[in-house]
Amino acid sequence: MNCLALEQDGQALVIDCGVTFDDRGLGVDVVHPSFDPLEGLRIAGVFVTHGHEDHIGAIPYLLRRFDAPVFGPRYALGLVRERATEHEVLAHASLNVVAPRESVRVGPFDVEPIRVTHSIADSTALAIHCEAGLVVHTGDFKFDDAPPDRETFDVARFEELGREGIRLLLSDSTNIDAAGPTGGEEGVGQALDAIVGGAAQLVVVSMFASNVHRLRMLGEIARRHGRKIIALGRGVETHARVARATVRTTGHDAGRPYLEWPSDLVWPADRAGEIPRGKVLAIATGSQGEKTAALARLARGEHPALSLGAGDVVVLSSRVIPGNEPGVMRVMTELLRRGVELRTWWSDRAIHVSGHAHRQEQKRMLQLTHPRAFVPVHGTLHHVLRHADLARELHVAEVCVLENGDVATVDDAGIRKVERAAAGRVHVFAGREVPASVLGERTVLASQGVAHVTVPIAASGFLAGPIVLATRGVLDASTGASIVAAAEQEACGAVEQIFREALNRRAAVTSDDEIAEAARLAVRRSFARALGFKPVTIVTVVRVTA
Ligand SMILES: [Zn+2]
Ligand SMILES: [Zn+2]
Repeated sequence: MNCLALEQDGQALVIDCGVTFDDRGLGVDVVHPSFDPLEGLRIAGVFVTHGHEDHIGAIPYLLRRFDAPVFGPRYALGLVRERATEHEVLAHASLNVVAPRESVRVGPFDVEPIRVTHSIADSTALAIHCEAGLVVHTGDFKFDDAPPDRETFDVARFEELGREGIRLLLSDSTNIDAAGPTGGEEGVGQALDAIVGGAAQLVVVSMFASNVHRLRMLGEIARRHGRKIIALGRGVETHARVARATVRTTGHDAGRPYLEWPSDLVWPADRAGEIPRGKVLAIATGSQGEKTAALARLARGEHPALSLGAGDVVVLSSRVIPGNEPGVMRVMTELLRRGVELRTWWSDRAIHVSGHAHRQEQKRMLQLTHPRAFVPVHGTLHHVLRHADLARELHVAEVCVLENGDVATVDDAGIRKVERAAAGRVHVFAGREVPASVLGERTVLASQGVAHVTVPIAASGFLAGPIVLATRGVLDASTGASIVAAAEQEACGAVEQIFREALNRRAAVTSDDEIAEAARLAVRRSFARALGFKPVTIVTVVRVTA
């Protein structure tokens, strides 16, 4: 959910605008940052560093609220166009491709993308000239000396800018804990080639579909071993479509698309049964164990195109993002039960490399740029604090750790935290915002269920019939009948008690609210005694007229 804004003279340059996901099972499709802190500023432009969802996914939501031009690398903007079309905001979206080393004026800022290497093609850092001086934002990066598209890291430009004098560096902290070199994509290609070459039957490779380098290498591997590529899952289809349709304008491959999969290499999934299993290289979404993705469906034997069995090879060409382990293990268990040969990062370290610089490469970035001030970004507080320590070890003069919502000022006096903005998360379901109060209710409903109580009141002012209780997610209807009956009885007693007290006082009977509250408390009390918890209890008082 990366989103950072630089402000000068009331104008903002938004750097990246991404989404994240919510795995609590509360019916949330996507989460994007709250844009409230941008209110009152003129948004001069949004500049994206690369096409990963955590950097571009929230742009359609931003464009619904603010009119702002979007700038970025060609491939990232190809993906933004796809998203913006889905969200029907394309009509007023101004998407502007900016090539590396090309400078563009965005409000009071001069912005120049610089080529870096990462796990998606066309990744950039940004050099921004503004009143405070030169600001460099690395975006997501690692140093890959031999990227498959030969679009190499522009080390020379970083060196030049370092000599010019960098006022502030913001740099990717993801892999601060990882020792040793990050490793290049080419090595992954060789490892995958060996696995495919040694397989007799079907091979399925599951990976992050956004890794165009790897899609490209898998195309070459398939061709080498006389296999057809079958794309399984929306992510692979989308990225393959955008990458095949977007033509490079720079570098060695200028004039050629980001992905060259000739039509005779790709085979439609719905006709998978027409070619021998040994001639298929399937690429599937779902390497993080996502339940509805292609890999999980293959594992459960529910995929309409292909079924897996003994002799087939499944490769998880990915690492498991912390938090996703249980889902991945579930999918792995089902795959192993099918008898497939499973290759994972745990058994074969060479089948995946990270897209983010390990500690020694983060150090190299700090040394290349030797900034006056440093803000670590892209990590939890643990990661950014450790990255800050590294910068101090390297004698960076001003090191400032910021958390989401912190506002810092940079001027001649230094960099310092000055205030907090009203930062937050916006949860989206079926295209609409889910308010925090609704999410709170869903959390309680999911853990304790709901009881609905109907209290019929006659014109005479007394109970007109039995109090009826229905529950969902509380207990089993057949075995829990006696618990429900006891709760109904307790509610009945509580309501009658109110009537008696009113009679004693010779007062008129009581409001519906008072009746409802007495019934509600009685039901919750009864359930707490029987079950040890209190479901959400909703009471309807029904006035029965003759
Ligand atoms: Zn990224
Ligand atoms: Zn990222």
